[in-house]
Amino acid sequence: MSAQNVRQKTLVAIAADPNSDGTLFKAKTADLNHLFGNHVFNEKVQEERLPKKVFESLQETIKNSQQLDPAIADVVAKAMFAWAIEHGATHFTHWFQPLTGSTAEKHDAFLLPDGHGKAIGQFSGSELIRGEPDASSFPSGGLRATFEARGYTAWDPTSPAFIYRHKNGATLVIPTVFLSWTGEALDMRTPLLRATAALEKQALRVLKLFGNLAPKHVFSTMGAEQEYFLIDRRLAALRSDLVITGRTLFGTRPPKGQELEDNYFGSIPDRVIGFMTEVEYELALLGVPARTRHNEVAPAQFEVAPLFEPAVLAADHQMLLMQTLRNVATRHGFTCLLHEKPFAGINGSGKHNNWSIATDTGENLLEPGETPVDNAQFLFFTTAVIRAVHLYGDLLRTSVSGAGNDHRLGANEAPPAIISIFLGGGLSEIFESFAQGTAAKNVKSKLPPIEIGVSQLPPIKRHSGDRNRTSPFAFTGNKFEFRAVGSSQNPAYSTTVLNTVVAESLDYLAGKLEAALGKGKDFNTAVHDVIIETVKEHKAVLFDGNCYSDEWKAEAAKRGLPNLVSTTDCLPLINSKKAVDLFSKYGVYTKVESDSRHEIYAENYVKVIQIEADAAVEIAATQILPAALKYKKVLVKAATTKTQQALTDDVDKLIDALIEKIGKLKDILSKVPEGEVQKTAEYYHKKVLPAMVSLRETVDALETAVDDELWPLPTYTELLFAR
Ligand code: ADP
Ligand code: MG
Repeated sequence: MSAQNVRQKTLVAIAADPNSDGTLFKAKTADLNHLFGNHVFNEKVQEERLPKKVFESLQETIKNSQQLDPAIADVVAKAMFAWAIEHGATHFTHWFQPLTGSTAEKHDAFLLPDGHGKAIGQFSGSELIRGEPDASSFPSGGLRATFEARGYTAWDPTSPAFIYRHKNGATLVIPTVFLSWTGEALDMRTPLLRATAALEKQALRVLKLFGNLAPKHVFSTMGAEQEYFLIDRRLAALRSDLVITGRTLFGTRPPKGQELEDNYFGSIPDRVIGFMTEVEYELALLGVPARTRHNEVAPAQFEVAPLFEPAVLAADHQMLLMQTLRNVATRHGFTCLLHEKPFAGINGSGKHNNWSIATDTGENLLEPGETPVDNAQFLFFTTAVIRAVHLYGDLLRTSVSGAGNDHRLGANEAPPAIISIFLGGGLSEIFESFAQGTAAKNVKSKLPPIEIGVSQLPPIKRHSGDRNRTSPFAFTGNKFEFRAVGSSQNPAYSTTVLNTVVAESLDYLAGKLEAALGKGKDFNTAVHDVIIETVKEHKAVLFDGNCYSDEWKAEAAKRGLPNLVSTTDCLPLINSKKAVDLFSKYGVYTKVESDSRHEIYAENYVKVIQIEADAAVEIAATQILPAALKYKKVLVKAATTKTQQALTDDVDKLIDALIEKIGKLKDILSKVPEGEVQKTAEYYHKKVLPAMVSLRETVDALETAVDDELWPLPTYTELLFAR
């Protein structure tokens, strides 16, 4: 191949230099145990560095959600400062999760002029506790007029501070909440904290009814499996659609995609495992317990899953995980794509949110044990989840909506937009008999081990149920797995909704149980009756079959389960009466906060598609059209036979169609209705998106016609397979 255009030169460069920038990562020690949490101001460091009284007071705040004693702030800040300096930090930042879905930080130097021509390093308690970033550039959904730009960040001591390294230094990062001057939550963390408190209150109430008095605290746990694509950075840089929007707006399916299914769990390429090792090293320093790594279904797609943790901390760690993936990728000459659907026709990326409820005494409240049928407390909590998902499946679906995730949910891909629950063998039978109104028989919950037929191997214990990969909300042994979350999303939002709806359900069921007990019913009968009555009423949400099938769509409609296909269907639910009543009752979002979220998410949806459409027009007009015209010139010159003339005509037609479709998209974009943002969002969904799809068809047809040397965009094959 004579390397002529920049694309082809890049490919040759990649072929010659598989390790890209040549810097090989060297872990200082392979002893991850020793490294783990080294850059976290955790309990151990606190104990070492704080006076005993201060340490105890801080621990009281952290462990029992007590208000922080402002008197200790200066002492803590001083210790934190000294520790941070030792780790090379020059700056500190309040770190928060605004409603953009990512994280935000503004760095302040420790160094301040001392007034005598020198400078001194310092960090005070008030700087630790409170920050005041100019909030006017963060989305507030009308919560704040720009002239009232004040926003406050406030230290959340329950999430430990940490050091974030970069090539030339480090920053002390302080996790905070982000509030408006009037006290409304402008972030993702605050509602999650509130929803977790609501869940705790109701769960403790239920545990008390069951005579389980040991736990003092209850919280939700989260383990979020993160899927991502890894693309050579030099190729990605040549695609302005990837650079601008994080996904390809054009591109034909490669001759080889994922048909052979040879990528899933395949051996991890050397260059990629080098990247993963450095990611894990950085995460270990930050105390993020990355546990599994593997190839995913699509070519160039991978997954990393951390071990589960309390949800608020796990959400922080998720944000750090995404940031680390992106940063380390750059060091390795890769671009990490976290978009839900970077490539049409190739599997998209999700983030399975594994969710459960745990106590401070180490109990997992969704652990069925050996004989679930005898485990009334487990059955009661699971019943509450079933009721919650049935009543509020629409709000759960809404919590994972967004322009990117629309390409997965509701499209022909995992998982569907209809929210149902998979319980699996064993449990399903138990709840099926409840639904029939009868107490479950002692179902054979102990399955015989799997026969391997090879004598030297030990017998393998079988799980109580097989897996069902098609369900959006699946019970997987001792937790539920909410699979509809998008790969780029902050899982704090879906967990906030999950915690709230389950809190509501526990509240309702506890009320029923208390009433029955009040009437003198014996405890076992009362629990039994509440469970049976509830499951009977909410069994419609239980479905173990294939959730991708058309039969299920029809069946789900018959059962009255909502099928919210696009974000525009979901947006009105955010501040619907149902949502506002629920969230304000449990102190999670006020009405104003719900309204603001509706506004912000609708605006975000509009902006994302607007940017995509503008990029599509630009690429088609300035890169594709000129290439096609050049090729046409070549053809016209060369054509000597009728057949060759026919080929020229075909390309000609495509060029005409291209010009026409660029014009049409531009025209549609010039007529976007102003005013109510919901209307604008619907316009983008119904008019702009189809015009983009139509333009794409023509561009993709040209890709398979035009001379490869003239084609400006790296192809899918190149993006997915070159490393
Ligand atoms: P897979 O679903 O791929 O088989 P695992 O069963 O190992 O994977 O778990 C997937 C994720 O679920 C991991 O992040 C794991 O830590 C998390 N997980 C396991 N138990 C719980 C729990 N009780 N609560 C929340 N997440 C959990
Ligand atoms: Mg999983």
